[in-house]
Amino acid sequence: MAVNEQDVERIVKQVLSQMGGTAKAPSFGGRAVSGEIPKTAKVAMLVEKERFEVKEFPIPEVGDDDILVRVEACGVCGTDAHEFKRDPFGLIPVALGHEGTGEIVKMGRNVKKDSAGKDLHVGDKVVTCMIFRDDPEITMFDLNKQNVGEADVYGLLPDDEYHLNGWFSDYIFIRKGSTVFNVSDLDLDSRTLIEPSAVLVHAVERAKTTGILRFNSRVAVQGCGPIGLLCIAVLRTMGIEHITAVDGNEQRLNFAKRLGASETVNFNDHSGIEALTKAVSDSFGGHLADFAFQCTGNPKAHANIYKFIRNGGGLCELGFFVNGGDATINPHFDLCSKEINLVGSWVYTLRDYGTTFDFLKRAKAIGLPVTELITHKYPLEQINEALKTNLAMTGLKIAVVTPAGS
Ligand SMILES: [Zn+2]
Repeated sequence: MAVNEQDVERIVKQVLSQMGGTAKAPSFGGRAVSGEIPKTAKVAMLVEKERFEVKEFPIPEVGDDDILVRVEACGVCGTDAHEFKRDPFGLIPVALGHEGTGEIVKMGRNVKKDSAGKDLHVGDKVVTCMIFRDDPEITMFDLNKQNVGEADVYGLLPDDEYHLNGWFSDYIFIRKGSTVFNVSDLDLDSRTLIEPSAVLVHAVERAKTTGILRFNSRVAVQGCGPIGLLCIAVLRTMGIEHITAVDGNEQRLNFAKRLGASETVNFNDHSGIEALTKAVSDSFGGHLADFAFQCTGNPKAHANIYKFIRNGGGLCELGFFVNGGDATINPHFDLCSKEINLVGSWVYTLRDYGTTFDFLKRAKAIGLPVTELITHKYPLEQINEALKTNLAMTGLKIAVVTPAGS
């Protein structure tokens, strides 16, 4: 009886599952079973504003330094929604999707370890981070380097001869110089939330540079979209107990409580900034916030948040991920006379990734339902609907999943 490679794989999986082990694709000499990798990959290409087309492209030859990953899932980011609607980055045609995760199905012989020094094998679950034009060693280990500098990201690359450049696809082609992390010890939904969570780990690291954030700080978080909600979860896992969430949506505020907010303020219940400020102060037992995180892209919200903060307090602005327009503040009342310590935060650095993996594990361990942030899952073929659901803001985190991840 002739046994082909697919039969071998099936038999090995069967034996492994009978042994109670995890069924993994067997790797022969570091190379994947060739029978399981198709010749072409499906890539959701944004071909014009508000329209993705799922195209098929040949899977490139995997070179000595390359990694081929079978995509399981990828979250939809606000950045994707902006690009979908308006193409502000001028990238069309582009393979989007940067919050993705999947399984290594093939890798070159020079690939031995991930960007944190962990071993990499076929079958491991991975995420990518940045593709650096500067030295990744510096970005990983130089603690004085606070921002991303010159870097590219899969899912925001101009189209090229490979085409497999984004995570909204069923395979992604990871080339030399990319940063990649082995996250096999995290479940699929947690892995899908790594990238947005890293934004908050970075924001909190920025906030800590003010020296104001402490275990017993009173912290206001304005905006309860995925970013604000993850902010609350990160603060809670680091032991901060007095967190007030501010938003206009009762459902999101209820979820904020489940993620660690001690109090909530619905701004629709209070007319005028004075009444709103009083509500925030009441939530802290008659005290203004020691520190505040501004997680909306609304200029009015930026102007308001100074009022919630005590003299000498701190503010981290991270909501204006893209240009949301000018905000009007009074520099005398809002900044100088209050001596506010203001930091901005944008994206993350490579080393925030390691902290993020620990955050997701800790959040799970203390029972925060972080993965419930993923409210919708769409197959790749329905990516246009996924983006429209994101823009309609009816859910929280929208994910695109492939058959491998569902
Ligand atoms: Zn993102």
